[in-house]
Amino acid sequence: MSQVNLVHVTKRFGKVTAVNDLNLEIREGECFSFLGPSGCGKTTTLRMLAGFEDLDEGEVIVGNKIFSSSSKKIYVSPEKRNFAMVFQAFAVWPHLNVYNNVAFPLKHRRLSRTEISERVERALLYTSLSKVKESYPNELSGGQQQRIALARAIALNPTVMLLDEPLSNLDPKLREEMRFEIKDLQKRFGLTIVFVTHDQAEAMAISDRMLVMSEGVAQQVDTPMNIYNHPTNKFVCGFIGLSNFIPALIKDGQVITEADPEAGVITTQIPSEIKARRVTLACRPSEIDFVSEGGVRGVIKRLAYLGEIIDYRVQVGSSEIRLQKLRRRGVLQEGATCFLKFNRLHWYEEQEA
Ligand code: ATP
Repeated sequence: MSQVNLVHVTKRFGKVTAVNDLNLEIREGECFSFLGPSGCGKTTTLRMLAGFEDLDEGEVIVGNKIFSSSSKKIYVSPEKRNFAMVFQAFAVWPHLNVYNNVAFPLKHRRLSRTEISERVERALLYTSLSKVKESYPNELSGGQQQRIALARAIALNPTVMLLDEPLSNLDPKLREEMRFEIKDLQKRFGLTIVFVTHDQAEAMAISDRMLVMSEGVAQQVDTPMNIYNHPTNKFVCGFIGLSNFIPALIKDGQVITEADPEAGVITTQIPSEIKARRVTLACRPSEIDFVSEGGVRGVIKRLAYLGEIIDYRVQVGSSEIRLQKLRRRGVLQEGATCFLKFNRLHWYEEQEA
């Protein structure tokens, strides 16, 4: 069931269009990420959802209720939306102990003492903070402080939890652990989570589905796996995972690299929808093989040992192609001539030169 709908949402700041005609449906119980480079409009979208920012055009609908509508002049204030927000900065009150940090917003809502105690204890239990409930934030680690913010959000029983780069201030190891904890909380409480990040690995790990944005425009909405395997355009292909982009020409039904037309033919089936003669071929480093004959000729310029994987940089004419192969499959040396076979290509048409 869809819980949150953004319909033709646009937001401008002066001449900058921060979010441009965004349509989005977030389902109940899913963890949905907004992913994209700095300045692409993720936070502005989240703030419009939360009610901290008004809309220039469009509507925000939650369940069957309109929360914001520019044309109908409807605006439901943030505190009436029953959302909980967790920010990048650890928003904890230093003069309150852990229990009271979590209880504070509930007291503000004038809930009974018993209900507050039940909700707080449950939230502390699920965020592994029960043992430190008497401690003050300055006695706790960064991870524990961010858990206080999560516990506070859970205790509010929100319809939707909005998380804006909540793990950015944590060290990489803790960051990874917290991803699993958030995922776990989502499943246990059946929470709907909207998660903002510029870190694609984080978004891939945590999301059921995600939106990839660039310059205020939605580029693709899908599961992490589908986006990785079927990126709709060059931007998404380059932003999600590693990719080689190989300029190529189609001549007499054959595909050759623009960087070195003499290097050999790329053995592949040209998709029927490709009509242009100039294309960019995108290929993941793991989806290229070394072959003993045929394929595209290149020279190994550099290689790096990444544990079990070897990362090769192969020079083909004026361009460089990156491959990643398992070390146990054998190691080719720098300076060696090699032949490349592309197992899976994404095709993007280009203008004639
Ligand atoms: P980051 O990852 O750096 O937080 P973001 O993807 O969240 O970036 P936004 O913060 O939503 O991007 O900003 C989108 C665009 O809108 C940017 O060009 C930004 O400079 C602009 N912008 C955001 N808020 C304001 C504001 N209050 N006044 C003017 N411009 C703004």
